Amino acid sequence: MRLLATILFLCSVVLSAKAQRRCGTVGYAQQGAFALNRPVGNASTDTVLNQRINIPVIIHVLYNTAEQNISDAQILSQLAVLNEDYNRLNADTVMTPNVFKPLAGNAKISFCLARLDVKGRATTGIIRTYTTQQSFTANDAMKYSAQGGDDAWDCTKYLNIWVCNLDSISLGYGTFPGGPADRDGVVVGYNVFGTVGVLRTPFNKGRTATHEIGHWLGLKHTWGDAICGDDSIADTPQQEYYNTGCPSFPHLSACSPNANGDMFMDFMDFTDDGCMNMFTVDQVMEMKSLFVAGGPRSSFLNAYQCDSLMPQGGALPQTPSGIDTVVVQPTISVYPNPAHEKVTIETSGFSVIGKTAYLYTATGIKILDVPVTQPKITVNLSGVPAGIYILRIGEVTNVFTAKIIHL
Ligand SMILES: [Zn+2]
Repeated sequence: MRLLATILFLCSVVLSAKAQRRCGTVGYAQQGAFALNRPVGNASTDTVLNQRINIPVIIHVLYNTAEQNISDAQILSQLAVLNEDYNRLNADTVMTPNVFKPLAGNAKISFCLARLDVKGRATTGIIRTYTTQQSFTANDAMKYSAQGGDDAWDCTKYLNIWVCNLDSISLGYGTFPGGPADRDGVVVGYNVFGTVGVLRTPFNKGRTATHEIGHWLGLKHTWGDAICGDDSIADTPQQEYYNTGCPSFPHLSACSPNANGDMFMDFMDFTDDGCMNMFTVDQVMEMKSLFVAGGPRSSFLNAYQCDSLMPQGGALPQTPSGIDTVVVQPTISVYPNPAHEKVTIETSGFSVIGKTAYLYTATGIKILDVPVTQPKITVNLSGVPAGIYILRIGEVTNVFTAKIIHL
């Protein structure tokens, strides 16, 4: 026992002395819960490649100590990093070597704290939960209230991010698409999350979340998790193994295809936060392929949970005991969406007859109004330019809105 404790102690010393990035995703996936094979999609043949996608995020902060209960500012600093990195707006794009700059891709994916919860009530997008667990491992306990964590929100509408005290083995881990819904999302250590607050150098620039969300969007590690392995991405050069710290360019390895060597500055390598600064064009296509019709993340095309315009943001009636009453949720279905020539709007749970359906541009300009004569109507979009529109039915009470993508 004492020997084991000594070995564990030595391992932790080695780990902390080298301060090496550890991502638990592959070891986690190899536990058998998830397949690493990615769903088939082809973003290049679909307009979704160039379309901006907004991902509503729910942050589950699990804390055992005050330090682990990170500030709103720390959370917001992480959102800012994601919105830079997934839009190629990060200041350190200048650090991308010139030979790799033409390969750098802009994912056009934005992340926002949810404004509406699963029942349509207002939320800050941040849930803070005290836990008796002093630390968590990559076994998903943080994803279940019954195990000292916090249950996932509907993963077809939200990206769940659990922020907690992870043991020293990994900085974070993410699930690949297509796994169990109640485990879907990413886990990030509280002290490697964001750019301000309680942070551990050199993982203090928010890149752990960028990396783990890359897995959530279907990306493998650049070395393919094998010696000279394959990450199934054409424009990331083959590399012998992962890189740590911050190598000098060029960094050649046993299987480098040419003198440019490894793309150690790719977000899916293991270098320090300050050393990584790009996704490639093909990685972007891989991520975007998940959003095509029928793809495992396609439900996010219609995500509205960040829209403050939504009238459902008000609190639902509650019983005095605080338990939600059973409310028949009025619903509005819009299909197909994205739509080509026509879109059908179907409502239930409330009366729309006699109201008017309006179509607005994203900047609020009204371009269509159609009287609603029955619960199901079809709107002709043939004269409407391609783009993203807001559908609105009703004026004062029972106002419903939905996002329509016109191809
Ligand atoms: Zn990883």
